[in-house]
Amino acid sequence: MNIPSILANAKLINPPYGIVEFCESVSPAICVYFYEDKCVQQSYRFKNDIFINIKGTYWFNYVSPPYGAETFGEVIVLRILHELGHVQNNHAGTLIDIGNKLQEVQDKNFVEKCENEAWKWALEFRYNNNLIYNKLVSICTEFSNTYQYVYKDWKDDYKNQFKYRFNKEPSESCLLIEKNKFDYFGKLIKCPLNYRIL
Ligand SMILES: [Zn+2]
Repeated sequence: MNIPSILANAKLINPPYGIVEFCESVSPAICVYFYEDKCVQQSYRFKNDIFINIKGTYWFNYVSPPYGAETFGEVIVLRILHELGHVQNNHAGTLIDIGNKLQEVQDKNFVEKCENEAWKWALEFRYNNNLIYNKLVSICTEFSNTYQYVYKDWKDDYKNQFKYRFNKEPSESCLLIEKNKFDYFGKLIKCPLNYRIL
């Protein structure tokens, strides 16, 4: 494992076994770590090591389409799938070697192209593997409900996050429909009949 210098002060956490097992099933070379840090909010990857931010400070961003997260645990799953999407697309990684330090890639266009491809992979995975996805969501929801955060500056409640993001109360069905309807590029996709989160 190469610990990025930006995470030098972060608390590294072993993910639940089901998550490790799942990542290895996607690619045996992958090592997945969770981390908690007071300031750093991004997930990182260097080669096959992925570092998932488990803080939910900005999780209201994930309640909107195309992500449609309904729990913070689901946000963690989406972050994991996104990093796996980078691996599966053979992207160079968020971090590059500069001398003996790992630094973030700076080329904005290149980063954006890779970001889109990784999200596309993540959301297609969700679309095609509902059962696995739901299992991962329950694992990560249990994790985020029981893990003792050192710094917690967000609320777990979905309605609260929705209201913060859209400035209105969620209706019963709105987000579920949105999540089923759109892929990452806002294109209408066919919704599988048995698709239900949780
Ligand atoms: Zn990314």
